[in-house]
Amino acid sequence: MDKQFPVIDGHCDTALLFDSKEYDFFGQNKKGHIDFNRLKQADVRLQFFAVFVDPQLHQFNVLEKGLQKVNQILNVAESHDDIFLVREKNDLNKLQKEKLGILISVEGGDVLGQNIEMLDIFYRLGMRSLTLTWSNNNYIADGIADKRNGGLTNFGIEVIERMEEKNIILDVSHLSVAGFWDVVNCYKKPIIASHSNCKTVYNHKRSLDDKQIKAIAECNGLVGVNFAPHQLSVAENADLDTIIQHIKYLKKVVGTKYIALGSDFDGVSQLPKGINDVCSFDDLFLKMQKHKFTDKEIEDISYNNYYSFLKSNL
Ligand SMILES: [Zn+2]
Repeated sequence: MDKQFPVIDGHCDTALLFDSKEYDFFGQNKKGHIDFNRLKQADVRLQFFAVFVDPQLHQFNVLEKGLQKVNQILNVAESHDDIFLVREKNDLNKLQKEKLGILISVEGGDVLGQNIEMLDIFYRLGMRSLTLTWSNNNYIADGIADKRNGGLTNFGIEVIERMEEKNIILDVSHLSVAGFWDVVNCYKKPIIASHSNCKTVYNHKRSLDDKQIKAIAECNGLVGVNFAPHQLSVAENADLDTIIQHIKYLKKVVGTKYIALGSDFDGVSQLPKGINDVCSFDDLFLKMQKHKFTDKEIEDISYNNYYSFLKSNL
């Protein structure tokens, strides 16, 4: 490929590896899909780092673990001259090939408990995106795995109002369907589904139906395509073409302006065929060229769409 495309990736779980002794973010790693050298090789200029906490933990431990993960991400961001935290729109001006911007995104509002001040505290610590729920319910809303499909609670409404004031990006991935529509009806700013695919292409409960995809586009939001094999297709069959099927479908439904990347690197034990780690973004873009995507369309999906979204919404 004669052209390398810059990348903003809206979801990875690499912070889970920060506890591991066999992993060093600044070293050469056999373990994991992402580290500093590989991010730079792949020309990733901004990476969202999820703070994922096992919701099964006792509330105090959820909060403790969440704070510990934020601290580990901040340690990474502060320990290298070429890494910086993205907290406001002006920080986006610093994005460039040699540098890495990090955006802290908390995956699951469980860390807030029922205390709105926790949202303020995580914001002060650098959180700029919040996935309201993981697949289970919390005090904000039900997750997609909850059979009762409950929507936003009163506390949930309080949370999203505060997010709107503070420009914290609202991420609906993992949220129940009822919760999704409550958000669309109550929240006045654009939303993202940071790592969610298309139900029409492959029927997985975590994926979005056409109405949801259109609602996200109508509010000028983004859908980040997720590489988790079991959400792309029957897991064994997932490959680069399957990822592109989801991208093509999104393009058909809403055009290319609302499509982004949400790899889920280091959040899945297996990747689609043809994707080995973050460096495989290049292979995906090459394949997209073969599927007749223009360079402009590829760069919108890989970078520009998130860039403009964040310029308007941080
Ligand atoms: Zn997730």
